[in-house]
Amino acid sequence: MKYISTRGDRQELSSAEAIIRGLAPDRGLYVPEEIPALPFDIEDMLDQPYAAFAEKIIGAYFDDFTEEEIAEIVHNAYTGTFETEEIVPVKKAGNAWFLELYHGRTAAFKDMALSVLPYLLTTAMKKCGEDHEVCILTATSGDTGKAAMAGFADVPGTRIIVFYPNNGVSEVQERQMRTQEGGNVSVFAIEGNFDDAQNGVKSIFGNTEFASKLDEQGIRLSSANSINIGRLVPQIAYYVYGYAQLVKQGAIHNGDLINVAVPTGNFGNILAAYYARKMGLPIARLLCASNENRVLTDFLTTGTYDANREFYQTNSPSMDILVSSNLERLLYDMIGDASAVASLMDALDKDRLYNLPPALTPNPGLFRAGSATEEETLAAIGAMFRDHHYLMDTHTAVAYHVYDDYRTSTADPKPTLIASTASPYKFAGSVASALGLDLTPGASAFDAIDKIAEATGVPIPASFRGLKTRPLLHSQVIETGDMLAAVEKTLIKSSL
Ligand SMILES: *Cc1c(COP(=O)(O)O)cnc(C)c1O
Repeated sequence: MKYISTRGDRQELSSAEAIIRGLAPDRGLYVPEEIPALPFDIEDMLDQPYAAFAEKIIGAYFDDFTEEEIAEIVHNAYTGTFETEEIVPVKKAGNAWFLELYHGRTAAFKDMALSVLPYLLTTAMKKCGEDHEVCILTATSGDTGKAAMAGFADVPGTRIIVFYPNNGVSEVQERQMRTQEGGNVSVFAIEGNFDDAQNGVKSIFGNTEFASKLDEQGIRLSSANSINIGRLVPQIAYYVYGYAQLVKQGAIHNGDLINVAVPTGNFGNILAAYYARKMGLPIARLLCASNENRVLTDFLTTGTYDANREFYQTNSPSMDILVSSNLERLLYDMIGDASAVASLMDALDKDRLYNLPPALTPNPGLFRAGSATEEETLAAIGAMFRDHHYLMDTHTAVAYHVYDDYRTSTADPKPTLIASTASPYKFAGSVASALGLDLTPGASAFDAIDKIAEATGVPIPASFRGLKTRPLLHSQVIETGDMLAAVEKTLIKSSL
């Protein structure tokens, strides 16, 4: 299986090379030349554990890795790192099934792929004869940084440096990052916002003089963000696993069609469901759910992508995004013409806007899109708990709201899997208010966590217990202009 750029770069890479590179030289994203078929019959997999699904799906895409290599990568990723033995429990509540993707170390779905990526990357480097140490640089608005730190902590041959906006992440997220253990982990708060952090990281990646200085030290920089094909592919496995659980639980017969609803930001998670469908998983519709930043809802219903709009900070902050990078892979798959994709992406860079030709507007029989306001999100959490004693986080609630609208307006009776992307405790302030819990003014997120646990009996994620009192290991706050110096000092000092 070869990997090619969505923007037409001619070079064909092995998956190992594509994982190491991350982004193609023409700034396109790597995609498989062809999407493989499901490598098994679901019926034969019903009693298999999650890891067996992950091995077979990842192996179907990354066929330059040996079976033993894939098995070891998956074993390292999912053994002892998740709180539930099933890894991804599937639970029925109301009239939907929840695919709970948040039982990993940081209580958000990014753990599903970021537990795998460090081992994929280090194995890929070995296969390609790359003897350098790899240093991951990441700018984060909260969830990705912590999940990447937890994934890479103490993985031999790697280092990780994370930048987050000082005062720009939630109290829980900041605590999670500042208490992260691991000899190869560094985190800096910067005096700026997320865009400043992101731009600083981009400029370090673009600094060729610095790259050669690091090269002399035996270090290579890399990125863990969701455009890496090594993050996308592990996510396909859980949709297939979720389908098998519906068969096993008797909700469907093997072969029956289901719908999938996904709370969407950068379009990575829903794209994984799209790939699962192309592999042959019986999915009828993909429901793409947005918060008030409803750029994808508008795009999927009109064919116009328009990021020239007000940016809202919502109670589902991990979906507060106006430019969804992974959409480029969908466009490539739909249009099948890299030069057309390249011109759309140029238009997006220049004008923050593009129009698809009418013939290419995404198939409404496949994609349905909708959005939820902040009030609708909180109302969905409150009603679900009151009626079914099931607790959703704000992101999951956006998807549930959109699904509920869809079901009411279409009467489509097909069972629906909702991608449940975070623990309700991760967004405790909003969830507590959705439940109508009384918090004293100025109460901390930790008070909200305790109140929710008391009121609902839902267990607090193990990684949150003691978070409030765990020692703070990182406390460096730097100016935006000092990011390069911070990276240099961290890497060159510790490599002596
Ligand atoms: C990142 C994130 C999302 C959005 O996922 P994409 O793959 O970027 O669409 C949704 N919910 C939570 C909790 C997240 O952390």
